[in-house]
Amino acid sequence: MNFDNYKKFIDILSQDLDAMFEHQKDYIFCKEGCSHCCEYGEYPFTEIEFNYLTEGFKNLDKKTQNIILDNFKNIKKDEKGYYVCPFLINKKCSVYDNRGIVCRTFGLLNKEADGKVNGPFCGKLGLNYSNVYDKETKELLLDVIEEMQYKNLPRVFNLDINNIRKLDLVKELGIEFGEQKPLEEWLKEYAE
Ligand code: SF4
Ligand code: SF4
Repeated sequence: MNFDNYKKFIDILSQDLDAMFEHQKDYIFCKEGCSHCCEYGEYPFTEIEFNYLTEGFKNLDKKTQNIILDNFKNIKKDEKGYYVCPFLINKKCSVYDNRGIVCRTFGLLNKEADGKVNGPFCGKLGLNYSNVYDKETKELLLDVIEEMQYKNLPRVFNLDINNIRKLDLVKELGIEFGEQKPLEEWLKEYAE
C-alpha cells in the first residue's frame, strides 16, 4: 500500500497540532512517561490509520512484536469497554511515528457535537486543562482565566476525526480514510 499522500497529510497535520499545543502550553502537562491517554480508551481508527499503524508494527523487531501480540491477547476491558492500548510498552508508544490521529490530537480542548467543550479526561488527574476547566460541569473556569492572565486564552478545537476527514487538504491529496472502528476490532481482524 502506498502511504505517500497520507504521510504528507500527517506531516501537515502534525505541524498544525504542534502549533496548537504550543499556543495552549499554559494548560498542557504532557511529558515523556505520561501515558494515561494510552491506558484508557477504545482508540477509534479509520482503515488507513490502522494500515499505517501496521506498517510501523511490521518494522519492529520480533521481540517487540511479540510483546504487542501478548498485550493484545491479554486486553482487559472495563465496564465502558476501555482498555490499555497493546502498543504501549514501558509507558511509551512502540509505533510512535505511525500512531493514529486520535493519538496525535488527544490532550487539547475539543468541541462536542452538542457544542459543549470536551476537555481531556486527564484533567481529572490534575493534568491538561485542570487549571482552567471543570471536567464535571464541562465548563471553563472563567474567573481563574481572568485572574491568572495567561498569555493565550484556552482555545476549543474541532479535532474530531469526522471533521478532520472532511478537510480540503484530504480531498486535494485524494485520501480515503475508509471505515472507522475501535483499535481492538481492527486487531482482531488482522490476527485472523
Ligand atoms: S494528554 Fe494527558 S495523559 Fe496524555 S500525555 Fe498529555 S497529560 Fe499525559
Ligand atoms: S498507538 Fe501509541 S499513541 Fe496511540 S494509543 Fe496506542 S500506544 Fe498510545
